[in-house]
Amino acid sequence: MTHVLEISGLVKTFGGLTATDHVSLTVNSGEIHALIGPNGAGKSTLINQICGELIPNAGQIHLAGRDITRLAPAERVALGLGRTFQITSLLDDMTVRENLGLVIQAREGGNFRIFDRAVRRAEIWDEVEQSLQTSALAVRAGVRVADLAHGEKKQLELLMALAQRPRLLLLDEPMAGLGHLESQQMIAALHAARAECAMLLVEHDMEAVFALADRISVLVYGRIIAAGTADDIRANPAVREAYLGE
Ligand code: ADP
Ligand code: MG
Repeated sequence: MTHVLEISGLVKTFGGLTATDHVSLTVNSGEIHALIGPNGAGKSTLINQICGELIPNAGQIHLAGRDITRLAPAERVALGLGRTFQITSLLDDMTVRENLGLVIQAREGGNFRIFDRAVRRAEIWDEVEQSLQTSALAVRAGVRVADLAHGEKKQLELLMALAQRPRLLLLDEPMAGLGHLESQQMIAALHAARAECAMLLVEHDMEAVFALADRISVLVYGRIIAAGTADDIRANPAVREAYLGE
């Protein structure tokens, strides 16, 4: 079986510090795989190696069977690696609908900043309406990004990432800074997104992790100390000691 993502023996050092120490994990098609661990465990370092911002000292990364370990970030995106748009890259003076339209246009080879007149506009707007249909943002489609609440911007980031049609979406703390209702909406949106792509979810909010993850890997000091289902992880004494603080 070909995994959507397969990481094997990934090592990344910074001077004398080993930030990821022979990390291996897989993400299957249709799966949400959560990566948890305390601050400084190496979670972001791992995500950055997957998306190509950091090149590992050793180990391999395969995306849908293809070795991407040394490809440039844009080449990985072209092969189906998705990452949420950072709020800072949303276009503030444009509406929710227009931001989505631009990302679809860019996926089809167009510009992300300005609408290209020639590009299949009707198809783009149909797709925009479809992607909004089931979202909490449906009623905010005509609102400028500058006027959205923080949680609404995070919802838009997710829709924009999905509009790129990734095979695998990397999510680095999507619940960060969200209030209770916004968290519930994000959990619902990620649950719905499960039908579209596999996800590697780095998250501190354990309610969200337990609600969403098919499997969980626990990273501590650069090493995976446990991996399994939510029940396996809850029951694991090493995890309770090292991470859940019991
Ligand atoms: P997490 O995301 O799990 O909180 P990080 O991956 O950000 O952890 O960091 C893992 C370790 O690597 C930490 O000790 C951090 O200080 C160190 N680190 C991360 N990035 C760098 C860097 N660019 N240069 C030096 N040390 C780094
Ligand atoms: Mg981090």
